[in-house]
Amino acid sequence: MNRQRLDIAVVGAGMVGLAQAALLAVRHPQLQVAVLEASTELPEVSPDTYDPRVVALTQASRELLEEVGAWALIENNRACPYTEMRVWDAEGTGSVCFNSRDVQLPNLGHIVENNVVVDALRRRIDELPNAELISGFRLESWWRDCGLWHLQPRSDRLADVEGGERNPETLRARLLIGADGVRSRVRDLLHIRCHETNYHQTAMVCVARCSEPHRHTAWQRFLKEGPLAFLPLSGLGDENHCAVVWSADDALARELLELDDAAFALNMEKAFESRLGEVEAVGERYAFPLRARHAESYFGPGAVLVGDAAHSIHPLAGQGANLGLQDVRVLSEEIGRALKRDLDPSDNSVLARYQRRRRGDNAATLKAMSAFKSLFGAGDLHWRWLRNTGLSMVDASPLLKKRIILRAMAV
Ligand SMILES: Cc1cc2nc3c(=O)[nH]c(=O)nc-3n(C[C@H](O)[C@H](O)[C@H](O)COP(=O)(O)OP(=O)(O)OC[C@H]3O[C@@H](n4cnc5c(N)ncnc54)[C@H](O)[C@@H]3O)c2cc1C
Repeated sequence: MNRQRLDIAVVGAGMVGLAQAALLAVRHPQLQVAVLEASTELPEVSPDTYDPRVVALTQASRELLEEVGAWALIENNRACPYTEMRVWDAEGTGSVCFNSRDVQLPNLGHIVENNVVVDALRRRIDELPNAELISGFRLESWWRDCGLWHLQPRSDRLADVEGGERNPETLRARLLIGADGVRSRVRDLLHIRCHETNYHQTAMVCVARCSEPHRHTAWQRFLKEGPLAFLPLSGLGDENHCAVVWSADDALARELLELDDAAFALNMEKAFESRLGEVEAVGERYAFPLRARHAESYFGPGAVLVGDAAHSIHPLAGQGANLGLQDVRVLSEEIGRALKRDLDPSDNSVLARYQRRRRGDNAATLKAMSAFKSLFGAGDLHWRWLRNTGLSMVDASPLLKKRIILRAMAV
């Protein structure tokens, strides 16, 4: 691959950047696509422990991963289909249960460890003749002339590319795609402002082993301090492991994170009303401060943002990665449309069409998540009544449930 004349450089080898590069390379064999990744230590899948960071992948995301040839690798490794989702309010009797039978499908989605998705996509990039992953390249600066980006890695610690060589090389590409996560360097270099809402909550993430099997159900209890989700995992012998995402106000999260494992597990079990029996063990805990972010614009001249670089949301509905993968699908469609019409894919009109198709949708999801968060955080009697009645009403209406499930699966 000629690194001095790439068609497309994708910055960031998270699941969104890798999926973007793979989809473009699969659909357009004439394009030369490189993914630039800052880290040299690419995540490995452990054969005997689960990665605590997981995503609940929808049917739409699975279809995209199928198209790039990564889904078979994911399924052969570890992916846990879930057939039921149970949601209930800690302060009342309202609850709702969604079942895949409601929509005559075998499951509602799959819980997959982040590492498993990233590993499968990386392997596909390695196999594609017109795609390349360049690790150890932390994009720091750039300039653009005659429609060509000149991209340089951080100069104080010039990146190691291929075999540990120090690499001062400048890469050149026509279109730049920023998939470099919430603190996107591409977004900063484009001077795109980002609206930020601090939820003053922290998501604590770990793997828990419970005394009862998870029954392929995704469980979520809404507490006043934040939602607690137990997401089923499988592939390592039993069906008693769950990935836990416990969001709580910052002060409470700090207290909980200071507890030893046994006390943390006991608190978690209580908060979860022992729905899966005893929490027998918890793995290493990770903490993520929760903020909603939305870029004011998704593109600048010759460059465009996808995934968390463009938007990040509260994990309560597990949609962040799914939204990012929908960006990938739509941007690929617009690039394909441009190529068919002999238009330059980095043309502003192409990137503006992508923005028009994605920004509104993402904004609506961000708003809905903030509204949910406020509704379930309200201790006031009226709000409690409203949400408990709402949950029970949804539960009693098969038609409404079906609509909600089908809409959620299409993201
Ligand atoms: C607690 C928690 C639970 C979640 N649960 C779910 C869920 O159930 N379902 C769901 O859909 N989503 C979920 N999400 C959201 C989901 O994890 C993210 O939306 C998704 O991982 C974002 O992927 P990304 O590829 O856009 O960004 P990232 O995964 O952040 O990848 C960005 C990559 O860019 C690289 N990079 C950064 N800067 C540079 C640079 N200058 N040069 C080169 N490379 C760079 C980074 O090293 C990284 O590899 C959750 C998030 C959290 C915090």
